[in-house]
Amino acid sequence: MEILNYINGEWIEPKVKEYVDVINPATGGLIARTPLCGFEAVDSAAKAAAAAFPDWRRTPVQDRIQYLFKLRDLLKANMDEIARTITNESGKTFEESKAEMVRAIENVEVACGMPMMGKGEIVEDIAPGIDEMMIRQPVGVCATVAPFNFPGMIVFWYLPYALAAGNTYVIKPSEKVPMTMQLIFKLIEQIGLPKGVVNMVNGAKESVDAILEHPVIRAVTFVGSTGTARYLYNKASANGKRVQAQAGAKNPVIVLSDADMDMAVKIIADSAFGCAGQRCLAVSLAVTVADARNVFTEMICDAAASRVVGYGLDSGVQMGPVINMAGKQRIESLIGVGAKEGASIPVDGRGTVVKGYEGGSFVRPTILSDVQRGSEVARTEIFGPVLSLMHVNSVDEAIELVNSGTYGNQASLFTSSGSAARKFRYEVQAGNIGINIGVAAPMAFFPFSGWKESFFGDMHGQAMDAVEFFTQKKVVVERWPKEWSRKF
Ligand code: NAD
Repeated sequence: MEILNYINGEWIEPKVKEYVDVINPATGGLIARTPLCGFEAVDSAAKAAAAAFPDWRRTPVQDRIQYLFKLRDLLKANMDEIARTITNESGKTFEESKAEMVRAIENVEVACGMPMMGKGEIVEDIAPGIDEMMIRQPVGVCATVAPFNFPGMIVFWYLPYALAAGNTYVIKPSEKVPMTMQLIFKLIEQIGLPKGVVNMVNGAKESVDAILEHPVIRAVTFVGSTGTARYLYNKASANGKRVQAQAGAKNPVIVLSDADMDMAVKIIADSAFGCAGQRCLAVSLAVTVADARNVFTEMICDAAASRVVGYGLDSGVQMGPVINMAGKQRIESLIGVGAKEGASIPVDGRGTVVKGYEGGSFVRPTILSDVQRGSEVARTEIFGPVLSLMHVNSVDEAIELVNSGTYGNQASLFTSSGSAARKFRYEVQAGNIGINIGVAAPMAFFPFSGWKESFFGDMHGQAMDAVEFFTQKKVVVERWPKEWSRKF
């Protein structure tokens, strides 16, 4: 597939010298090349979005959301084709790809509530004859920089709300997975938005820096690793932009002995190994308390070892490859670090080769047992199908361990005790909490974000937080002479 930019309603072939190969991680085959665009392309996109902004913001909100209704229908009708593309460029299974598009569509549906969500407020007679009101206005040109692991969904935490609220947009997909967004833009093209309202530029660091430096772009959302998030947050805010950056994670789960162990193991295995562990809400550290240790360890090892690994479009496959060979090497090297630090490896996914897909970047589910507190594998985001096991003697100790981590994206607890669940929910420092849930991903009508090193910013993605982020409030205090109102 030839990867193009979409600027001012036109497909543009970028004039660049450098490209990044896009590889199907299951087959190892070349499927596209991402052009590495820089300032020139971003500048054209930002200028097109700026030119489209005055008319778009004046378009009544109920007319703006009609485009979203059309987009929602097209996304649904083309779900299978989009899901196949997601699988082919990111590696996840077809079912996982469809699931991410379900959440994308849900966000479009919620954003269609903008006539209600974007309303201001008014208080009459704050003093005799004086009224005060708060109105919400769009911010202007906004941009999203996306990661590789959800090629379809993540842009939808932001884009539908921004458009419904009257902003115009520039999207920069991950250079590792440009095909899905190109396909989605083919659908966006069909909904007939005015030229320049939504634009897409492909590239890597240079295009991101151009977004962060461009004076016309007023707000930036980012999703990706913590290092890049911190860089982007600092640079965007130094340049006076509104910015939110969702970052990396190291999500713990605590398992108590009173948990329904069959359910706990199944859900935790799905969380740790689903999407090959490349989910920001994937559980990667399981902390057993007291008697839970032996039974959980035995059962989770069985679950890990029995997972069916292969090409995500083949039936029966439960887990696909990781994103690329560099990712595979990084993950395998971190498993080796765990072993050097004293962990045992009862289930070892290193060196995986799947028959018929010998060129694929597969890592089978891996269990690192007896991981030590403070060790590298206990702290580092591995972003692969690797679950580290730790053990403590009490719920207090487990919560203290969870809160000592630097990330705060998600924490889960498996128990049948209401009081343990309440204590956990109350004390744990994370933006998303699961009680007997492995991937506590908020529905589109709740905000989505982590705490601590998992998030930089204030307002979050989705729902009312997205409305807040993509609107600026204006307060008006208004006086009219009494005799004027008496005339009517
Ligand atoms: P990444 O940080 O490598 O890349 C994300 C985006 O930033 C890409 O578009 C990339 O082109 C750009 N980028 C990369 N390096 C850059 C640099 N030096 N300067 C400017 N831009 C740069 O992340 P990734 O590997 O694509 O995604 C995986 C990471 O994303 C994991 O850490 C995962 O936890 C995180 N993630 C977080 C959430 C969340 O909601 N918190 C959701 C999904 C993924």
